[in-house]
Amino acid sequence: MQATEKIDIKSLTYEELESFVVNTLGEPKFRAKQLYEWMHVHLASDFEEMSNIPKKLKEKLISNCDYVSLKQIDRQISQIDGTRKYLFELGDGQMVESVWMSYKHGNSVCISSQVGCKMGCRFCASTLDGWLRNLTASEMLDQIYRISRDTGERVSNLVVMGTGEPLDNYDNLIRFIRLLSDERGLNISQRNITVSTCGLVPKIKQLAEEDLAITLAISLHASNQDKRLSLMPIAKSYDIHEVVDATRYYFDKTGRRITFEYSLVAGVNDSDEDAQELGMLIGDINCHVNLIPVNPIKERDYTAPSTDRAYAFQKKIEKYIKNVTIRREMGRDIDGACGQLRKRHSDAKKGESNEEFCID
Ligand code: SAH
Repeated sequence: MQATEKIDIKSLTYEELESFVVNTLGEPKFRAKQLYEWMHVHLASDFEEMSNIPKKLKEKLISNCDYVSLKQIDRQISQIDGTRKYLFELGDGQMVESVWMSYKHGNSVCISSQVGCKMGCRFCASTLDGWLRNLTASEMLDQIYRISRDTGERVSNLVVMGTGEPLDNYDNLIRFIRLLSDERGLNISQRNITVSTCGLVPKIKQLAEEDLAITLAISLHASNQDKRLSLMPIAKSYDIHEVVDATRYYFDKTGRRITFEYSLVAGVNDSDEDAQELGMLIGDINCHVNLIPVNPIKERDYTAPSTDRAYAFQKKIEKYIKNVTIRREMGRDIDGACGQLRKRHSDAKKGESNEEFCID
């Protein structure tokens, strides 16, 4: 006989939690408010911490629910700017990586949305070992919750730019965003949430209809279809013009300025001609272009252009687009491209790595 599945209580919306507490557990409604606060305001790491919840109810909760709380496996702190990289273990032993960055305007967290990734972008470490599974809303939330508890500081900005393709985990992502921006929880403003996608066109359109005030970031990385195809297999499914059109649609529906991410790869997409072509492709869109000198991974021979070349590219594209920035590198001493911390740990488990984890 199969055991009935436990409820992932931290993924429930306030209303769902109320219904679960009243209808399934047969408890008074106010218990839902208490539980929600313990989970999403006090960021409790287990039921034990919930001091005003009676023992009997805790027992019922333990037997009916899964309480997702990630286990910190590794933490690297940059000596240069205080950036922190975390490696967390999930309930099934899988691992995900998250980053905490402190800026003048507040603290920002970058989370993973999947274990591994199936998108196959050529320069990205997260995709090298393929895709294993989606993260639940609670597993996405808990990356932020554990980091908030660890730093003791409020998180004001959130970017979904870690491992995984968030729009390939659409329903959990939407649930996660609604929980994170719920004023009864951490209450992070939707305006301070950015979701980055390699360009799943139907999902971008669906996202435009959700009535969310989040920022959409598109990983463009090329100014024409052929070059995009050489870097990003997803271009086989969606032509670059379809992707750009989907961002126009997103802006029309939401009024939210689009961010385009463009990883600069020396000799591949960093010439003046590339900049000009990019300007012509997206120059009519209300957008911000973020240039990211590619972070080399040892499995590929892509390199970043010189600083002079990156500035020249920026200058050229500024003829078409007002807001162009070059991403400031955070945590240079602990960096490693996206997904590398996790990959090093999993390679070490397989006995393949001779690299050190420790940075200090
Ligand atoms: N799947 C999503 C989000 C994860 S990646 C997406 O594709 O947008 C977040 C950003 O980092 C993307 O723009 C991605 O293309 C970029 N990126 C990944 N590896 C990189 C590397 N080695 N150097 C520079 N940018 C990289």
